[in-house]
Formats: sequence, structure tokens, C-alpha cells
Amino acid sequence: MTLAVSACLLGEMCRYDGASKGCAEIMALGKEHTLIPFCPEAPVLGTPRGRISVIERDGVRRLLRDEDGMDVTDAIMAVTEAFIQSHPNIDRVILKSKSPSCGLGTTPMLDEDKEMIGLGNGLAAEYLIECGLQVWDENNFKKENECWK
Ligand code: SF4
Repeated sequence: MTLAVSACLLGEMCRYDGASKGCAEIMALGKEHTLIPFCPEAPVLGTPRGRISVIERDGVRRLLRDEDGMDVTDAIMAVTEAFIQSHPNIDRVILKSKSPSCGLGTTPMLDEDKEMIGLGNGLAAEYLIECGLQVWDENNFKKENECWK
């Protein structure tokens, strides 16, 4: 299979704080599958970078930079779209939990006062789903990885 994976899970130092979240179990999938790193934030905001959050306003969710409220949604969606277009053969996607871009049902959703109103999908993850890709949270993958062999 060809798997797109959040790049930080593959050991890339692309997190907001310049660190990675390399996961040996996921990296080991490279023995049997083709792994393609995906990070929608680093090309837009660089690394390290200020944090961003999913903010819901009038029922619409946007990605805003914490420090100054800059809306980076369109830029991150453009990177995500370009990734999909340039990798048409992706079979599955494994994403980092809790990220405002990559999280899958684990990302804090905030109101305009930055109060948490629930958990949901990061906006890049949401777009990957809308495009029909099979998307997995890293932790669900770890629980169910027998079915990947
Ligand atoms: S945007 Fe996704 S791939 Fe990039 S650092 Fe954040 S969680 Fe990892």
C-alpha cells in the first residue's frame, strides 16, 4: 500500500516547537509499504512556528494563529490540496492526534474566546476525508494494526 503519514510521526522535525513525534511502530510500516510524509503546516508557517488553533465562528471553523489571530486556513488547505493532487495513489492516511490540522476526532475546537467547545477533526484531516481518503488516527492504528499486515 501507499500510506500518507503525518510527517512528525515519521521523525521529521516539523512540529510547531521544532520537535518530532517519531513513532517506531508507524515507521516500521515502511518495511512493507510506501510511506509518504505529509505536513500541511510547516510549508505555510515554517518550523518552529507559533501555535494555531481551530476557532469556530458562526458555525464555521477556521485555523487562526494564536499570537495574532491571523487566518491561515486557506494556505493550509492549499498545501493539503496540492498534496492530494501530487499523490493520487494514496491507499490510506495515518494522522497525528490532537493537531489543529491533522487531528482526527481529537482536536480541541475553540470558540472566539478560546474556550473549548468540544473535540473534532483538524481541518486538513477533514479535507482528506471529504476527498474520500481512508484516514486513521495514530492511536487507532496502533490498536488495530493487525489488519494492516
Ligand atoms: S501539521 Fe500534522 S504533520 Fe505537521 S507537525 Fe503538525 S501534526 Fe505533524
